[in-house]
Amino acid sequence: MSQPLIVITGASSGIGEATARTLSAQGHPLLLLARRVDKLEALNLPNTLCRKVDVTDRDSFAAAIADAEAQFGPVDCLVNNAGVMLLGDADSQDPAEWQQMLDVNVMGLLNGIHLVLAKMRERKCGTIINISSVAGRKTFPNHVAYCGTKFAVHGLSETLREEVCGDDVRVITIAPGAVETELLGHTTRQDIKDGYGEWKDSMGGVLAAQDVANAIEYAYHQPQNVHIREIVLTTTRQP
Ligand code: NDP
Repeated sequence: MSQPLIVITGASSGIGEATARTLSAQGHPLLLLARRVDKLEALNLPNTLCRKVDVTDRDSFAAAIADAEAQFGPVDCLVNNAGVMLLGDADSQDPAEWQQMLDVNVMGLLNGIHLVLAKMRERKCGTIINISSVAGRKTFPNHVAYCGTKFAVHGLSETLREEVCGDDVRVITIAPGAVETELLGHTTRQDIKDGYGEWKDSMGGVLAAQDVANAIEYAYHQPQNVHIREIVLTTTRQP
């Protein structure tokens, strides 16, 4: 039997890219979204549609999903992974950076939910996987706005889970600790980046993107009546 369609946001690097490779290797058709469409296309995965979509732009997000469904059938799983982490101090950080994190990490994720949920409820089948963070469970220095967005992901995911479980739709929250990806690179404060690097070294390293992709794949591929609600994963040495 052919495998159902999975949508992955932020698949142009890091966790999203590793997840795309993993689920493609298991035969799933994919819709991959990001702003750097050249990086999506360079993955060269079979049965995969790549679209330049900023997840804060609902119209292009909706158009990409419509095109993928016309080609591959209904979306069975949405991996809401696109995110930005711009660390800073609450009294000096450029508010535009808070806005970007709120727009992408919270509104972008809600946009994805809005675009797939009604059909999943109608079909009585589907899985929404929201990528949060350990920073959605506990606090870290210089993370005021980022932690705020990831606490929001936990809160909205659990609320949604309770709302839609009666329609056999699963809402899974994945909360990784530190992972080696491009994420930290967008923070503008060099001293914060240096401190983060020292923290990573003090733990003897961090997770690989593939570790998180494996957790996503495990949670998704449980039978539809088994709901892994949340996975928190870190290196053993991360406090
Ligand atoms: P990366 O920076 O490697 O990947 C982030 C992805 O998000 C990229 O593909 C980027 O693509 C995409 N993205 C960013 N903004 C937008 C946007 N406006 N529209 C569409 N896509 C966007 O980082 P990670 O792989 O680490 O991050 C993936 C998720 O994991 C994030 O939600 C992050 O918060 C979370 N996470 C990461 C941890 C870590 O330590 N790395 C720990 C815990 C959680 P493009 O630039 O091409 O648009």
